[in-house]
Amino acid sequence: MAFPKSSPYVIIGAGIHGLSTAYHLALELKARGRGSGEDILVVDKTGIAAGASGIACGVVRNNYYQPAMRELMAQSVEVWESDPEAYSYHPVGYMQISSESMHGDVATIYQQQQAIGYESAFIEGADDCMTYMRSMFSDWRAQNITSVLHEKKGGYANNTASIYGLASKAESEGVRIITGCTVTGFGRSGEAVSAVITDRGTIETDMVVVAVGPWVSKIWSMLDLPESVSIKGTDGTMHHGVDMWRYWCLEEGTLGVDPNLQKTNDGAMPPVIHVDTDAPLHSDVDGSVITEEMWGIYYKPDFNFAGIQGGAMPYEVTTPVNEVALDPYGPDSPDFIVGDEFAHMWCSALAHCQERFSGQMRHWKKEPSGGLGCFTPDSFPVFDTMCENVQIIADSNHGYKMIGVGKLVAAECVGETMELLEPFRFSRYAEGQLHPVSNSPFPWS
Ligand SMILES: Cc1cc2nc3c(=O)[nH]c(=O)nc-3n(C[C@H](O)[C@H](O)[C@H](O)COP(=O)(O)OP(=O)(O)OC[C@H]3O[C@@H](n4cnc5c(N)ncnc54)[C@H](O)[C@@H]3O)c2cc1C
Repeated sequence: MAFPKSSPYVIIGAGIHGLSTAYHLALELKARGRGSGEDILVVDKTGIAAGASGIACGVVRNNYYQPAMRELMAQSVEVWESDPEAYSYHPVGYMQISSESMHGDVATIYQQQQAIGYESAFIEGADDCMTYMRSMFSDWRAQNITSVLHEKKGGYANNTASIYGLASKAESEGVRIITGCTVTGFGRSGEAVSAVITDRGTIETDMVVVAVGPWVSKIWSMLDLPESVSIKGTDGTMHHGVDMWRYWCLEEGTLGVDPNLQKTNDGAMPPVIHVDTDAPLHSDVDGSVITEEMWGIYYKPDFNFAGIQGGAMPYEVTTPVNEVALDPYGPDSPDFIVGDEFAHMWCSALAHCQERFSGQMRHWKKEPSGGLGCFTPDSFPVFDTMCENVQIIADSNHGYKMIGVGKLVAAECVGETMELLEPFRFSRYAEGQLHPVSNSPFPWS
């Protein structure tokens, strides 16, 4: 098929957001009698699921301290639940298990989940938490835990399978996906974008959706958008010259034991476990202290990864944004993959939580894993229309779980304004409409 010279809608990026937008936009156009999926072109420089979506742990949770994030996640969970088979979605639930410093934050989350009808249970107090956890895992032994939030919805999905599921849904609506096609610039008509310039040719267009995950800083520059922003703090003080983007490296890996090892006492597949605690963490190898600071891990049994898969807190990349080596990405990167230190910490943390993982570090899979995420100034997403006709989906690395964002962006592409996206506009920085910040050790909670 010839390379297209024009398309009413060009979506850049074949990850969770680009493909979800493509599929839902095709449905919107059809429902409104304004066209079909044939009016939509997705271009990707590498291939389907070649970015962060293809390496994500795949956890789907609602547990956010920020009300706007929780409401957005509830909408995304509905999309996951709409077709679990196509999206390879496992609705096993999710548990946030925390020490006292996070108790108040998590209590608020629970109350607000009740208010929006998101099913969860909240257990408080060290003894009750231990009893609750041992009713599920007889070997539970994590220390300093005083609250457990058990979300009955959510869980996880298999990363690549779900993205391919979305791609085939989009293609079945007539969307064309072109891979091996890199966007290198934009043609402009005044402020608006009139063409997407690629290494295979120029595509005239009416509307562009940018869904390039960690590469968003590059496309942002190509659109001549500001490299730094002014932010109005909660006390009204303006902070000028704050970098728009920064990178964090996500550290994840797999303990290559039988995933069935993590079944619950009654033989069921368990919820995703997330533990944040200030209990000292000791090595499972020699008992030495790994950290006495707050630490956190998450894990789940996963047949796709063939073991217990999960991660820990990311670390900030200090290299200037324009010099960060994004490519090759993910496991192919020589720089941003986990090493022995992470394996030691994460496996010891597993053993801290559950006795069944003690002495299992020899099963750590020594394969490259982890990858970069691109974060905004406040570490929350920016979903907005820039340059008059460019929809930016910059999820600040929150986003595999956000399968529903594409549905909302699709509605905005045809002229609607979606209330759920309003708290994520770019203007919030200058206006000081910032999201509340939690006590979690993770930059995305
Ligand atoms: C290790 C790791 C684990 C994670 N785990 C989770 C998790 O458990 N739960 C969760 O919710 N989130 C998780 N995330 C975050 C999540 O993966 C991302 O937020 C999300 O996948 C981003 O989706 P996207 O569609 O925006 O981008 P991507 O999936 O990165 O897709 C972007 C695509 O754009 C293409 N592209 C880039 N530049 C260009 C260009 N110039 N021209 C053409 N194409 C281009 C790329 O090839 C790529 O395919 C994790 C992230 C990492 C790195």
